[in-house]
Amino acid sequence: MSELMRPTFDSQLIEKYGGEGPRYTSYPTAVQFNDQFTEASYRDAIRESNELPIPPALSLYIHVPFCTSPCFYCACNRVITRSATAGQEFLVSLEKELRLTAPRFDDDRPVRQLHLGGGTPTFLSTEQIRQLMALLRSHFHFAADAEIGLEVDPRTVDPAGIRELKAMGFNRISIGIQDLDPKVQKAVNRIHDTALVSSVLGAARGVGFGSISIDLIYGLPMQTTAGFAKTIETVINMQPDRISLFNYAHLPHLFKAQRQLDESLLPTPATKLAIFRNTLNRLLDAGYEFIGMDHFAKPDDSLVKAKKNGTMVRNFQGYSTHGGLDLVSFGPSAISQVGDSFAQNHRKLEDWNISLLEGRMPVARGLTRTTDDRIRADVIERIMCDGALDFHGVERDYQLVFRRYFASELEQLEEMAGDGLIEWTEQGFAVTADGLLFLRAIARHFDAYLSSGSKSRGRFSRIV
Ligand code: SF4
Repeated sequence: MSELMRPTFDSQLIEKYGGEGPRYTSYPTAVQFNDQFTEASYRDAIRESNELPIPPALSLYIHVPFCTSPCFYCACNRVITRSATAGQEFLVSLEKELRLTAPRFDDDRPVRQLHLGGGTPTFLSTEQIRQLMALLRSHFHFAADAEIGLEVDPRTVDPAGIRELKAMGFNRISIGIQDLDPKVQKAVNRIHDTALVSSVLGAARGVGFGSISIDLIYGLPMQTTAGFAKTIETVINMQPDRISLFNYAHLPHLFKAQRQLDESLLPTPATKLAIFRNTLNRLLDAGYEFIGMDHFAKPDDSLVKAKKNGTMVRNFQGYSTHGGLDLVSFGPSAISQVGDSFAQNHRKLEDWNISLLEGRMPVARGLTRTTDDRIRADVIERIMCDGALDFHGVERDYQLVFRRYFASELEQLEEMAGDGLIEWTEQGFAVTADGLLFLRAIARHFDAYLSSGSKSRGRFSRIV
């Protein structure tokens, strides 16, 4: 990002446009999924995708739902357990899900990407992860250059474990640290020291992991500008390739785990904003590029290259370099996207297990996009990824007249143009430096579900 593209953090604009909004990891968002979409609908979607002239390659996601202790900011679908048998039982069910689902995809569709998330994937022992990889490789054919990644909790791996993961074929790693300040760690019940993080990251770099990513969260209890500045300096010294800086969304009415957190220790909105502003500026000074929303990467990282050549996409894992793949997901609550259909598994581990015991694919809900959904999804993705929109591209792809199709949306955007968040161009519009903070607010104009009902209110985090 050039100097000219630094947001000014204008307080009036933040007041006006910083309210709640979806993160747009999908459109329509998961809030719109419904139980009219069934196992049969998912099977139809897979069959139709196989019948395409060139069926897309595959991206796999495995949701490992276990953690040994609860982080009080958690918004994930997970089961807290120290059971010695949980991992093995999970693998037994996972194999059933693979047997029911994988054969439905034609053999000639290679896997180009695999991601293990959760929960805590490294809740599984090294031997169990090896079994999981063997299972996946027995059901799918992996491309030689497939991107194989996982999220690690530094409390659950050591350098020897990292080396074993590399030997199994993992080549991408994301390390969840959130904050290195011991006071914050205590307040959120996630305690690990900096040396541990350094040794895990050093081991990952030493054995050749690429795009090493560190996840941070701002807005947590006990955080201060000075405390978080120290964390950022330490993280910069570790030189990860990517940094995710998530805005903590305190939604205790939706996420039970967050009710354990002492609300009186949360930073004020002004402190939270100052932490974000200082961190953004510090990361830019340190040579990181602002990818969008909450992602930063080094200039030579593949994400920056994808952003520059317009091929970056947005999916359930956030920003990604891999577009045009069908996403096939396994495990409780996992969401697949095959063609224009989203299929979400049962959220509860028990329901997921029962479905599989009864020999049914564990689909609980989902949605098949309409043509209008598809058009809006493309528009929203380009705004979120490129910070710009080319009307002609949309007209070409969908045979429509953009200014007529989106007449009311463009009229509403005039106010943002007047406030200097976007600039009209010959082809469409470009988001300005100040507008970069409000990508979700700009994209929201094209979300037909937000404007048509209240179903989504109170379900999304603040934009800034
Ligand atoms: S934040 Fe991550 S590690 Fe912590 S409880 Fe939630 S899923 Fe588990």
